Amino acid sequence: MLSGTESTISENVANVMNQITRVAQRVRRDSRSVKLVAVSKTVPPELVKQALDAGVTCLGENRVQEGMAKRPHLLGRTLEYHLIGPLQKNKVLKAVACFDWIETIDSSDLAEKIENACRDQVKLMPVLVQVNLAKEETKSGVNEEGLLPLLEQLLAFPHLSVRGLMTIPPFQENPEEVRPYFRRLRQLLDLVMARTTAGAEFKELSMGMSHDYPVAVEEGVTIIRVGTAIFGARSNN
Ligand SMILES: *Cc1c(COP(=O)(O)O)cnc(C)c1O
Repeated sequence: MLSGTESTISENVANVMNQITRVAQRVRRDSRSVKLVAVSKTVPPELVKQALDAGVTCLGENRVQEGMAKRPHLLGRTLEYHLIGPLQKNKVLKAVACFDWIETIDSSDLAEKIENACRDQVKLMPVLVQVNLAKEETKSGVNEEGLLPLLEQLLAFPHLSVRGLMTIPPFQENPEEVRPYFRRLRQLLDLVMARTTAGAEFKELSMGMSHDYPVAVEEGVTIIRVGTAIFGARSNN
């Protein structure tokens, strides 16, 4: 159930973009270095189009099946489609065909399947590695200890363009309490740069959501994933 009318979706998009600009200016960052991914899970195509009309250029879906069903309704739009949910190995072929970015690589098995699918489909896929900073059992992602070994493997795959790190920190009512996780992901990015052959393209941090993205902008985020603040509350998911 969505509580959005046409004007509120475009107003919400404008509010989020303005907020990104305001915070970026305050911490002396270029707001163009922050990419807004509007998370359209559970949102029907008619409402997604309103966000695109309001200036959104990137969408995020957490389920392959839903992304495949929705994307044909958005043909002809300038659009970067991000997979932000866990990817099962039996859905890799479909995911590679449907999505432009995969943000949720967390194992070398999965990466190899994506590599093979991209080779067959003649695609170079921008990918992020999902890190499970708090080692939450309910969340996917590689633990910090496994990050460097996994990256070494990914960097050897010619059809993956490894762009950075993604995390979903533990939910905290108070966004200030999420700040240490954002900082940690940024440190890990620097660590990877120093210790692996990752090049200048390895610079993305995907880490803020509706209730904490301003803090993420302060902490150097380059990709924020915002659903509720644009489309309204979801009934499930
Ligand atoms: C749903 C979702 C979001 C967006 O969450 P909101 O709180 O609605 O902004 C961001 N990232 C991931 C991985 C999600 O599944």
